[in-house]
Amino acid sequence: MAKRDYYETLGVTRGASPEEIKKGYRAKAKELHPDRNTEDPQAEAKFKEVNEAYEVLKDEQKKAAYDRFGHAAFDGGMGGGGRPGNAGFRPNGDFASAFSDVFDDLFGDIMGARGAQGRARAAARGNDLRYNLRISLEEAYAGLQKTIQVPTAVTCGVCKGSGAEGGSEPQTCPTCSGIGKVRAQQGFFTVERTCPTCNGLGQTIKNPCKNCHGAGRVEKEKTLSVNIPAGVETGTRIRLAGEGEAGMRGGPTGDLYIFVEVREHSIFVRDGADLHCRVPVSMVIAALGGDIEVPTIDGGRARVKIPEGSQTGRQMRLRSKGMPVLRSKDVGDMFIELVVETPVNLTARQKELLRELDKLSEQKNNPQSAGFFSTVKSFWDSMKG
Ligand SMILES: [Zn+2]
Ligand SMILES: [Zn+2]
Repeated sequence: MAKRDYYETLGVTRGASPEEIKKGYRAKAKELHPDRNTEDPQAEAKFKEVNEAYEVLKDEQKKAAYDRFGHAAFDGGMGGGGRPGNAGFRPNGDFASAFSDVFDDLFGDIMGARGAQGRARAAARGNDLRYNLRISLEEAYAGLQKTIQVPTAVTCGVCKGSGAEGGSEPQTCPTCSGIGKVRAQQGFFTVERTCPTCNGLGQTIKNPCKNCHGAGRVEKEKTLSVNIPAGVETGTRIRLAGEGEAGMRGGPTGDLYIFVEVREHSIFVRDGADLHCRVPVSMVIAALGGDIEVPTIDGGRARVKIPEGSQTGRQMRLRSKGMPVLRSKDVGDMFIELVVETPVNLTARQKELLRELDKLSEQKNNPQSAGFFSTVKSFWDSMKG
């Protein structure tokens, strides 16, 4: 189900001032309040919608995101989460179309103002594109050069983007007089819509270019080499200016946004720039101390000294063995957490040795157990009393 435009929901135009948005919200909230609309089963949903729209539009940051990306800015797809395994491009996906809607509207506003001065809007900016890129943690560590294929639209080579054949001139659209928008009354509001005759271009073409059917651009798969810097994380967005779709009839090109998703790693868990890693150590090494080797994210190994008498949960820090910080010289740390492993599948001889060890054990060898049992004993005593 398509979500209503937030501005429309509040009955204000795009470009409305904060005061106008507030005013619109008050009026709509009053009008649609469920207490005043007890017969309308949709009242609550409508009221909620108004509140949701206002939550976004009153906040400068959220408003900017909404203006740029539409509802897609808040639908969770932004973080690269979305559908799992969905690396790559969504040609007809929700995002691309959300972009296109928003940009059509924005552009319409800008050009509409110009249209008032009698100048037709001849060209529309191309859509921004989104490309989802899944990479490994190692790739995020080192950064990488990646070649990607993006289905997009490029300027038509035959008409050089004009959309007209053989140098014939585009003409002002008779439906909208070149403004690209038509107005319609909807309830109390005048709603502007994209002109159906010229699709908002403000011009029609008598002899459209046969190659692009008058659009001035054609679909094409573009191959791009993208530089992904070291330190990116899930949710990092990389903008490639001018690598989106070509505009209609020679309009400006949109941008391409690469949304990064870093896959989970089998050994390391990332926490910002730090890496965490659980390392099992044998009971004997934990008791006697010793050196172990742990893997590092660069593919190497680091020696770690396990102190005598280490317990499960003991943390050790390896400085600067974490992830690089994006566009900075900082590097995080790596933390290892020891997990002492109880031996299993013991032979008779091994068991015998352990029993012998146990016989020789004193309270001071197991201070935690000794301490715990004395606490338990006083607990039971107090219950009796
Ligand atoms: Zn053409
Ligand atoms: Zn028109």
